[in-house]
Amino acid sequence: MHIGKLVNAARTPFYSMEFFPPADAAQLPDFYDTVERLRVLNPLFVSVTYGAGGRRQQNTLDVTAELVRRGMTVMAHLTCVGAEPQGIEDFLEKLVKAGVDNVLALRGDPPADRSWDWEQAHFRHAADLVRFVRERRPHMGIGVAAYPAPHPESSTFAEDRRHTAEKLRAGADFAVTQLFFDAREYIEMVAQIRAQGLDTPVIPGILPVQSFDSLRRMLSLCGANIPGKLYLALEKAHEEGGPEAVRAAGLDYAVKLIRRLLDEGAPGVHLYTLNKAEMCLRLAEAVERSRQ
Ligand SMILES: Cc1cc2nc3c(=O)[nH]c(=O)nc-3n(C[C@H](O)[C@H](O)[C@H](O)COP(=O)(O)OP(=O)(O)OC[C@H]3O[C@@H](n4cnc5c(N)ncnc54)[C@H](O)[C@@H]3O)c2cc1C
Repeated sequence: MHIGKLVNAARTPFYSMEFFPPADAAQLPDFYDTVERLRVLNPLFVSVTYGAGGRRQQNTLDVTAELVRRGMTVMAHLTCVGAEPQGIEDFLEKLVKAGVDNVLALRGDPPADRSWDWEQAHFRHAADLVRFVRERRPHMGIGVAAYPAPHPESSTFAEDRRHTAEKLRAGADFAVTQLFFDAREYIEMVAQIRAQGLDTPVIPGILPVQSFDSLRRMLSLCGANIPGKLYLALEKAHEEGGPEAVRAAGLDYAVKLIRRLLDEGAPGVHLYTLNKAEMCLRLAEAVERSRQ
């Protein structure tokens, strides 16, 4: 199923979910148990990440294929930094054969050792990959990443929004955002995209806080901002109440954030599951309760 069409057809807010493929085959049974537990939330689609620079590409392929077999609408993430057109074409071919109809077209992060030759690269930006996929696979659903706190490499908000608009215009059907904690960042980003004449759906990415340490790790990796008040509340909960107090404080905040986003017209919510079911289920239950 084409995710862009499903999003446009959705009349009520939906959940979608991100998973990462387990590195070790021994973890697969637990992984699929988690996915099955989360099925009660009736996700519109599930997405599976892609190792930086194409590492563990086969794992992404295997997991997406299995999720399709389980009857889910699936999106494979795909990065193009350092990739050759033939490698991308081969991967798309395998996805199509496995019944995966959607990709999240990403640039990815260049290798830290700077071995990547920018000048010689076939793909320099995600927009190049969007154009490539759109041309070769016109029927595939294509998503792209958007950054409420601009991408760390963008020097200004305006530059970031211009490049986001460029990849949407190149043929993306929808965008999924980086995780964020301040609703205003999402609202302003969407307004700036709309001001460029685009009405493409932008699905907000939400991280249910699993622990103080994992939150800090995520923040250091992705460059998202966290409101000082929330950080201090989580820190206090961590020091005084322990892990469950952190989860409760994170949950409370996430419920309010999701309510605000849906009130402001977000089409649904993309959950960063971190391959864990419990906090996503608790969050969805709390959101439901808050609507009654
Ligand atoms: C929802 C989501 C899922 C992700 N999944 C994965 C994953 O599975 N695997 C993985 O390795 N990484 C993943 N990432 C991380 C992503 O690969 C990094 O954030 C990467 O640094 C940028 O990728 P991009 O597709 O946003 O790049 P781009 O859209 O190319 O943007 C990267 C930077 O380049 C700038 N730029 C874009 N176009 C131009 C241009 N024409 N001229 C000059 N500058 C330009 C942008 O403003 C931005 O600063 C994900 C990110 C998100 C938000």
